[in-house]
Amino acid sequence: MSALEIIQIPVMQDNYLYLIHDSASGDTAIVDPALEDPVVAELDKRGWRLTHILNTHHHWDHTGANLALKDRYGLTIIGPKAEADRIPGIDIQVDEGDSVMLGDHSADVYFVPGHTSGHIAYHFSGDTALFCGDTIFSLGCGRLFEGTPAQMWTSLQKLMALPDDTQLYCAHEYTAANGAFALSVEPNNRALTDRMDEVTALRADGKPTVPTTLAQEKATNPFLRPTSPEIQASVGMQGAPLADVFKEIRHRKDNF
Ligand code: ZN
Ligand code: FE
Repeated sequence: MSALEIIQIPVMQDNYLYLIHDSASGDTAIVDPALEDPVVAELDKRGWRLTHILNTHHHWDHTGANLALKDRYGLTIIGPKAEADRIPGIDIQVDEGDSVMLGDHSADVYFVPGHTSGHIAYHFSGDTALFCGDTIFSLGCGRLFEGTPAQMWTSLQKLMALPDDTQLYCAHEYTAANGAFALSVEPNNRALTDRMDEVTALRADGKPTVPTTLAQEKATNPFLRPTSPEIQASVGMQGAPLADVFKEIRHRKDNF
């Protein structure tokens, strides 16, 4: 079985769409298509035909081209069961414990509410690839539009249990702004200052900082680090329950 090909398509201000292609079967999915044209252009360039849409959550910048792409390709739309009524054109509703096939490649579905109430993530374990939508960003996490901090902390812990070498295909390029906040709560984290040097250089070159890895995020992302004594001290919550520390970090980022 050959590895999945994963193509990152930057659109609008800071969204990333991902094309996933299995060369053996020809199956090709787009994760969270905000727009139609950039997806069609990339497919035409490569001679691929779109067979699936994988949605992580209902926001328009993740589902905006669902119907147009379905019209054009007659594809199958897979999305979160808990948001099925808000996913345009959904054909298959999936939830935690379900798996999704792309050719012979299988993705496990994780239920990760917090940013929205029914958000899911797709983990292609054989390809060490996680499509986490707006749950984890590099150096950040999604805003809590529909879920509670406790829910989001539970969701993040689920994803943190995946292998450290997992590649995180986040849906936005927010790393530089996230990093400014991260430095404000953990200025002495050497892994973080090193990462920010790298991020600054990449962005100066117009290059993406995503995908990232779970290992890198565990070492640098404040939302995955409520155990950090430096962060706990920065937010005045030494020894507090981790869910409470997480809640305070999220609150401070919202007001940063
Ligand atoms: Zn969103
Ligand atoms: Fe988004």
